[in-house]
Amino acid sequence: SIKQSPKVPFNNKNLPAYKVKDQLLKIIDENQVIIIIGETGSGKTTQLPQILYNSGYSKNGKIGITQPRRMAAISIANRVSNEMNFKLGNEVGYSIRFNDLTSQLTKIKFMTDGILLRETLLDNLLSNYSCIIIDEAHERSLNTDILLGIFKNLLSKRRDFKLIITSATMNSLKFSKFFNNAIQFKIPGKTYPVEIMYQSVPTVDYIDSAIKQALKIHISTPHTPNDNSDILIFMTGQEDIDISCQLLSIELQKLQKINDKIIDLQILPIYSTMSNSLQSKIFQNSPIRKCIIATNIAETSLTLNHIKFVIDSGLMKLKIYNPKLNIDSLQLVPISKAQAIQRSGRAGRICPGIAFRLYTLSSYENEMFDNPIPEIQRSNLMNTILLLKNLNINKINNFPFIDPPSIELIETSQYELWSIGALNNYGELTNLGKEMCKYPIDPNLSKLLIISNQGNFQCCEEILKIISMLSVPSVFIISKKNIKLQEKITKIRENFQIFDSDHLTLLNIFNQFQNVKEYEREKWCLKNYFNYKSLRNAIEINSQLRQLVIKNNKNITTCYNNWEIIKECICASFFANAAEFFKHNQYKLIRTGLEMFIPITSSFNGLNDLPKFIIFNDIILTGTKQQMNYITAVKYDWLIKYGKIFYSPKLKGINSRENQ
Ligand code: ADP
Ligand code: MG
Repeated sequence: SIKQSPKVPFNNKNLPAYKVKDQLLKIIDENQVIIIIGETGSGKTTQLPQILYNSGYSKNGKIGITQPRRMAAISIANRVSNEMNFKLGNEVGYSIRFNDLTSQLTKIKFMTDGILLRETLLDNLLSNYSCIIIDEAHERSLNTDILLGIFKNLLSKRRDFKLIITSATMNSLKFSKFFNNAIQFKIPGKTYPVEIMYQSVPTVDYIDSAIKQALKIHISTPHTPNDNSDILIFMTGQEDIDISCQLLSIELQKLQKINDKIIDLQILPIYSTMSNSLQSKIFQNSPIRKCIIATNIAETSLTLNHIKFVIDSGLMKLKIYNPKLNIDSLQLVPISKAQAIQRSGRAGRICPGIAFRLYTLSSYENEMFDNPIPEIQRSNLMNTILLLKNLNINKINNFPFIDPPSIELIETSQYELWSIGALNNYGELTNLGKEMCKYPIDPNLSKLLIISNQGNFQCCEEILKIISMLSVPSVFIISKKNIKLQEKITKIRENFQIFDSDHLTLLNIFNQFQNVKEYEREKWCLKNYFNYKSLRNAIEINSQLRQLVIKNNKNITTCYNNWEIIKECICASFFANAAEFFKHNQYKLIRTGLEMFIPITSSFNGLNDLPKFIIFNDIILTGTKQQMNYITAVKYDWLIKYGKIFYSPKLKGINSRENQ
């Protein structure tokens, strides 16, 4: 019989990781913990699992590979199942939050680090696995850091188990030290020198500078197909990537009008929330030069093979938690030196390259940290602490952190958990806290879900839908540039608004979307300016969460859309985020006095008669403005009833002022 050959020819036997497979297998055989360092594209992620599988490591358990990003877990699982000629979901599968494509057959499982962390809750020894690869460990995601701490204990209890950590050069020594000087193996690979160019004076507008630089390169250096002279620009996020793409194509057309010898440029945006099919365009060969405009996902996790020129804005967007204000915000910050080096290195994969740094040498030397700040030191740790307590790690300070979070971060997060009743006065998990751990959502939301089935509330059906809507990127489309269009969108949206609650508005949109026939849903979203992908995801999450509630032996109660009950239930979980009317379009957080704005997507936007007390889901910092995300009017009585610990004395103050 003829053996079916793969649909795509793979030359994976030429990859550096494959070439050293015998050496790799030998050190994996001889050591329990192995740190593998290799250039991006050397085959760590795609080849290691196959090498282990082919030499029998999956006979006594699964091979698990963690990724910090969901998109990566999916696309790599796809790639590897293709290379091995298996149907995705059979021998090779993936698992991300609310989406599991694995089966009884699965031997190679790609997953997010968050999924593996949850699996340790169910089975402390991870007995289903013979081997775990922690991929992209240098990124130091919160979940990866916690996993590594957990492994420190697990390793002595499971002598048969293998832990492989893959990392870019940055941070690799730290991992080795953490695991008692574990062996480091560097996959050999040739890289070429990259010339570094700095600005002589600081850049005022990095988007403008980046575009000018890209055009200069394109015009002054000729391009022939496959000559490896593509351009890679590092920007900070989707917004400035989209703007850069537009501007670059406009400027290019202008130049082409003057000089018809200037040829096209294929402009490709890349960010992590983008679809697979769009991302795969960057792998395809193209007869014309590519200009790839990316976020820091192109630093290490994406393989780009033909880059000769790198343009580095020197900036990134970072989620930073401020324990004093108790808010998370997305901030624009300088990258670290290690990242700058990593970015430049992308220009020297196939031949010598040039990196244009849009900052001065002095900024590089004096303003950048050596390494990025690990996520664990700049995050709200409510979720993490809940998880650790569930693993019976009561004294958080005793946990083996690679880099410990500050005492302030730990204490603030513990206090917040105590205030919602997840911890008792001794810092131990309460029954509510234990129940909360069963749901893979933020603590405030899991509490909301649990209490929706209790006492007078009985509104689980409705709350599940609201939580699903809060768990996806915003369904609201905004047009910042086109004011006329935004006015039109606002008008259309009024049809969906429940006047004193964004949460109820979300519920309403969910219900209406669900009532539209499936094949008409995308069109319906276009017409009403909703994000179709988000809504589709919300439906999926809703059904997954429902199953989880039932699995936990709880009923799905309904209040038949009784708005007052739903609002009171939300207040009973979100009372920490209560605010009092301040002035037009502004509220003040009662606990700290922080001034906050109403966003244009809110049903409260532009209203003259605003309710005195509200709660909100979270705060987004845009520029220097704090905006409340998803607002609901609440009664004064509810705040006293559910949020005594915060409000009794303060609200009395507010009242007496009113009475004067
Ligand atoms: P590493 O993890 O060391 O960065 P990978 O295993 O991800 O390397 O990639 C190895 C090689 O496989 C890359 O050089 C790239 O050419 C190829 N590759 C990986 N993923 C894809 C994909 N989705 N489509 C096409 N080629 C891919
Ligand atoms: Mg990789």
